[in-house]
Amino acid sequence: MHIVNEWGDAPRTEAHEGNEPYPTAESLRAQSPQFWAHFPPFDERTLVETANLIHPIFAASSGRECADRLNELISEAQMSPALASEAWAVQEVWHTARPDRVLLAGATLSLIDHLRHEPDASRLGVCEGDACADVYVDQSPAGRRQYCSLTCQNRNRTRAYRAHRRAAAQS
Ligand SMILES: [Zn+2]
Repeated sequence: MHIVNEWGDAPRTEAHEGNEPYPTAESLRAQSPQFWAHFPPFDERTLVETANLIHPIFAASSGRECADRLNELISEAQMSPALASEAWAVQEVWHTARPDRVLLAGATLSLIDHLRHEPDASRLGVCEGDACADVYVDQSPAGRRQYCSLTCQNRNRTRAYRAHRRAAAQS
C-alpha cells in the first residue's frame, strides 16, 4: 500500500504531488527491514510501474473486476505456485519467471494472502477525499470506510459541514 500511495501516478497527481521528488527507496526499506531483506534494491522506475499496476486492484468496482485484474498481474509477473519443504513443514510458495517483476509478484502475493483471510474485495478501496487517491484496506468491523486516513476524513467532514452551513445561511 505504501508503494502504491508514494510512487503511484494516480495518488501523486490527485494530491498535486506529481512534480515532487519520490521518497527514496531506502525509506521503503527502513519501514520493514525484515520484509525487504528478501528483495534486491529497486529502482524508481520499478517502484512507479509496480504502484501503477497495483492501484487498479483497489479501484475495482466489483469482485469480478478485482479477480480479473489480479489474474492479469499473475500472468504479467509469470507467477506460479509450488510447494517447498523445511524438515516436515511443507508450505506453498510462489515463483516468478520474470526477475524484473519480483516486486510486482511480491505485491500481488500479499494481496492474494490478504484475500485468503478476507475475501471481501470491497474492503480494498481508494480514498474518496478531495485531492486524494490513496488506497486503503478497510479493517473496520462495519466495513464502511471511505477515506485513507483520519486526516482525509476530517478534512472532508469540515468541508461538508461548511457547505451545509453556507447553504443554510443562504436559504
Ligand atoms: Zn485520502
